[in-house]
Amino acid sequence: MAEPTRRLFFALWPDKMVRTRCDWYVSGILGKRVRRVPADNLHLTLAFAGSVTDTVSRCLEAHADRVAIEPFRLQIDHLGYWHRQRLLWMGPTHMPDGLWALVTAIRDAFDDCGLERERRAFQAHMTLARKFSAALPAAEAPAIDWDVDSFCLVQSVNSENGVSYRVLRRWALEGAQ
Ligand code: ATP
Ligand code: MG
Repeated sequence: MAEPTRRLFFALWPDKMVRTRCDWYVSGILGKRVRRVPADNLHLTLAFAGSVTDTVSRCLEAHADRVAIEPFRLQIDHLGYWHRQRLLWMGPTHMPDGLWALVTAIRDAFDDCGLERERRAFQAHMTLARKFSAALPAAEAPAIDWDVDSFCLVQSVNSENGVSYRVLRRWALEGAQ
């Protein structure tokens, strides 16, 4: 029988304070009527592994154990829209070195663990709404400082109520508590 799999990805997971700020911003620009990503689901994907076996996830975790990157500050200061996917997002204008290093380390881990490496350029973003067809809000850019001191391995679970995410493991960045 085939080994069972889980749908996994690495992400930056906002703490309560950052999540609340993001939620205020999104509520402010979209109001209540537009279908948006629930506040609890807001995150920034580093790399998407897809459906993987426990063997592969253990390999990825062993690589994550060896990541040595210092905490960094991410300034979420841009509201963006991708027409093809009709996806509304926010993200940083400036990519901190630590974020590049983290994405590269995880992409390297994918190589080593037998997953296909993501070849597309990394575009840091937090999805706010999908299939977004309302008029694009003439909104102020966000101004959210996010002190990133950890990264996470997350499971994506689909149910009748939509997707939900379970943080399976969290790694503190070097020097962070
Ligand atoms: P749903 O697919 O049910 O609408 P979702 O996209 O949030 O919800 P997943 O598809 O499990 O849930 O994806 C988890 C995370 O990984 C999301 O941030 C998603 O944007 C990202 N992701 C999913 N597929 C890919 C992919 N092929 N390449 C890069 N990132 C992806
Ligand atoms: Mg998806």
